[in-house]
Amino acid sequence: MARYRGAVCRLCRREGAKLFLKGDRCYKPSCPIEKRGTQPPGQHGNSPRRGKALVGYAQQLREKQKVKRIYFILEGQFRNYFERARSFKGVTGASLLIFLERRLDNTVYRAGFSTSRRQARQLVNHGHIEVNGRKVDIPSFQIKIGDVITIRESSRQNPHVEGAWQTAAGRGRPSWLVPAEGVEMGARVASLPVREDIDRSINEQLIVELYSK
Ligand code: SF4
Repeated sequence: MARYRGAVCRLCRREGAKLFLKGDRCYKPSCPIEKRGTQPPGQHGNSPRRGKALVGYAQQLREKQKVKRIYFILEGQFRNYFERARSFKGVTGASLLIFLERRLDNTVYRAGFSTSRRQARQLVNHGHIEVNGRKVDIPSFQIKIGDVITIRESSRQNPHVEGAWQTAAGRGRPSWLVPAEGVEMGARVASLPVREDIDRSINEQLIVELYSK
């Protein structure tokens, strides 16, 4: 499957915002956004034209790129989510974000098994994650109410997983995920995420406008 293999910090700098793609390292002073500010990457990054406020199509495009990068998915897949959201009953923009939030890799990240969605995707791809006791290695798998997400017993001692789990306990988990009963490291989907659970800085209406042209 195609995937982005370039430097991820470049993606944050392009969007002018911290997208938290590198887990723990994003909270350190060495984060390029902390060090250099939101100057776009490339040799023309500091040209006055690049600093202009975005309007219209450029603003819509940047918002779409930002969300794609937050969830770390490629254009074709993102477009499929949009088409699905459009045919779904409800507000298209909010449905789009909820479909993205319900991805298994995102749920693994939100539950606290990893410190970034990229790391969560790797855990899923490598077969470390179980849903209702069965291995699921499809990052785009959509979770539903009642699903219990656990990490395979043999992977619980992994220091990255243990560290992420402790960090998430301190940070707090979203209200739609509750601890799974009788499991040492597990989360149960108590309800589906709603728009209010998702990054409020995202303006999904811009994405709807972009794809509706
Ligand atoms: Fe983005 Fe994290 Fe890199 Fe900072 S360290 S630029 S937040 S990926």
